Amino acid sequence: MKVLIVEDERDVCEAIALSLRFQWPEVQIVVAEDGMEGVKAGHLPDVDLVLLDIMLPGLDGFSVLREIRRTSAVPVVVLTARGDELDKVRGLELGADDYVTKPFSHLELLARVKAVLRRAEAPLVGLDQLRRYADDYLTIDFAAHEVRVRGQPVYFTPTEFNLLWQLAKNAGHIVPHRILLARVWGEEYESEADYLRVYVRRLREKIEPDPNTPRYILTERGLGYRFRRGE
Ligand code: CA
Repeated sequence: MKVLIVEDERDVCEAIALSLRFQWPEVQIVVAEDGMEGVKAGHLPDVDLVLLDIMLPGLDGFSVLREIRRTSAVPVVVLTARGDELDKVRGLELGADDYVTKPFSHLELLARVKAVLRRAEAPLVGLDQLRRYADDYLTIDFAAHEVRVRGQPVYFTPTEFNLLWQLAKNAGHIVPHRILLARVWGEEYESEADYLRVYVRRLREKIEPDPNTPRYILTERGLGYRFRRGE
């Protein structure tokens, strides 16, 4: 496994490296000390995970994330300052898979990293029931992980794709918030409503003709979300 750490503070880098090596003695670690280096290294094809600090000299972590996401679905965990809810939400909006607030403990970091890797590799459960969804506007090939809107391919991260899958395979039924969080992110995320809100918005921006008046992913207020098949 190869992990990229984008962080300008040497002691934070060393603490992270120590934690990762404790869990995965064979891990390869690449460090980028500023944003530009981070963008370059983030495009390396063999990176399995990126730990990305937001406060970086030059290009900040949000810009690095945006650049990486142009071409790569690599799992990204952002490191944010404690209590900064806006940073957390913004990171998720830009395509981060998770976040850890500084200062974090060894166990917190490992728990998040493991959860993110698990999600990136999780197979779609129940694929046999629904391998493909298609209407005049939207096509989803679940087996091939391909989404097309008006015939044009749209790029999805593994977490986005899994959320779409959970909704589509239960088309016509409300899927409660808690269930979506547990199935897509993991049991320990059942109360992280922010993740779901941000990701549903991202799915809508990608597949809805008008994200503000959704036609596929409907909000069932206070209950959950429901996927509605198109005509
Ligand atoms: Ca920093």
